[in-house]
Amino acid sequence: MKQLISLLIFLVTTSVVFAQDNRIPSKGLALFSKAGQFEPYEFSRHSIGDDDILIDVMYSGICHSDIHMGKSEWGNITYPFVGGHEIAGLVTQVGKNVTKFKIGDYAGIGCIINSCGECENCKHGLEQFCEKGMVGTYASHDYLHGNEITQGGYANNYVISENYAIKIPKNADMKRVTPLLCAGITTYSPIHFSKVKKGDKVAVAGFGGLGHMAVQYLVKLGAEVTIFDVTEEKRADAKRMGAIKYVNVRNPEELKGLSNQFDFIISTIPVKYEPIMYVRMLKIGGEMAIVGLPANENAPNIQTGSLVFSAHRKVYGSLIGGIRETQEMLDYSVTNNLYPEVEVINADGETVTNAYKKVVDGEVKFRYVIDMKTFK
Ligand code: NDP
Ligand code: ZN
Repeated sequence: MKQLISLLIFLVTTSVVFAQDNRIPSKGLALFSKAGQFEPYEFSRHSIGDDDILIDVMYSGICHSDIHMGKSEWGNITYPFVGGHEIAGLVTQVGKNVTKFKIGDYAGIGCIINSCGECENCKHGLEQFCEKGMVGTYASHDYLHGNEITQGGYANNYVISENYAIKIPKNADMKRVTPLLCAGITTYSPIHFSKVKKGDKVAVAGFGGLGHMAVQYLVKLGAEVTIFDVTEEKRADAKRMGAIKYVNVRNPEELKGLSNQFDFIISTIPVKYEPIMYVRMLKIGGEMAIVGLPANENAPNIQTGSLVFSAHRKVYGSLIGGIRETQEMLDYSVTNNLYPEVEVINADGETVTNAYKKVVDGEVKFRYVIDMKTFK
């Protein structure tokens, strides 16, 4: 009996050590506090399971959500925090059950890296609404791997189940492909949910990383696009991207005569604003999708009374998109050459810290992408 117990202890201990040994060493850029600067950080990811792939990260986009999350604007997070949920890279290892990828393929990672896979929502390809909770790419408890906190893609590598990784075709422009994995799907999904079609009059509020993808998808569908933003700097870009009108909301004159105009509006605004102003611009039966997620302390409100007096318009929230739809969006975008406009930056702490500031100050056109190969 004693021998059996000793043997069991030996097996458990060695398997723990074995599992630990198989963890994947990783290094990236992390914030160590909400007001901190990005600094190099070494950590590890879970071992490569039978269904998993290891990705050598090439590029990582900076989404405004990374900034909200990194600064604990949606609630306090655990630090260190490695941001990045717009990730593209090269597959360098595959688990023994993997069929979707082989070594040398390109793979992408968006905001979801796991979910229960069994609930009705997961079965319908809506992993973002998993009843047990989706596992986010960063700052999320990975209940499928000992509840460890996930770290994002401002790093040299990532381990993910093949079922949650997106195939990136070999002909894709890798520098520009990463923002599709969040900015792309978050705008593509509600545009299709609301069945926008050729000739519809539509509007995009917030002409940044997400907004400029929305404009491209809507123009491609043949809709008539109006853009709302707060700066003169992007007026020419709006025209170049095919919008028929650009409204600077800081100029009250430009806001006149816009009620009952639109079939569809998507709001990507990341700060406090008055959603009802846009609801009033919808035609009867028009739909407004809200995707912008301002900090908790700046959360916009809609008064129910105002909604009643703007009746028969629909307002809904939209959260990224499921894995199946993300693959569909990526294939559609690459085939139709619909890419974000990006500024590629080096992977050093000072540059990324500065990039966060510039996104908040409206100084990027239209998305920063970190070249992770420059990380030392
Ligand atoms: P960006 O900062 O790239 O874009 C935001 C844009 O909104 C900028 O062009 C900004 O202008 C503009 N803007 C700021 N204030 C106003 C205003 N009052 N009226 C109109 N436009 C305004 O952010 P992202 O596109 O990366 O993200 C946008 C939001 O969407 C964030 O809150 C983010 O967290 C959220 N998000 C939500 C997702 C979801 O699943 N629902 C997924 C991904 C992101 P300027 O630059 O000149 O300041
Ligand atoms: Zn994002």
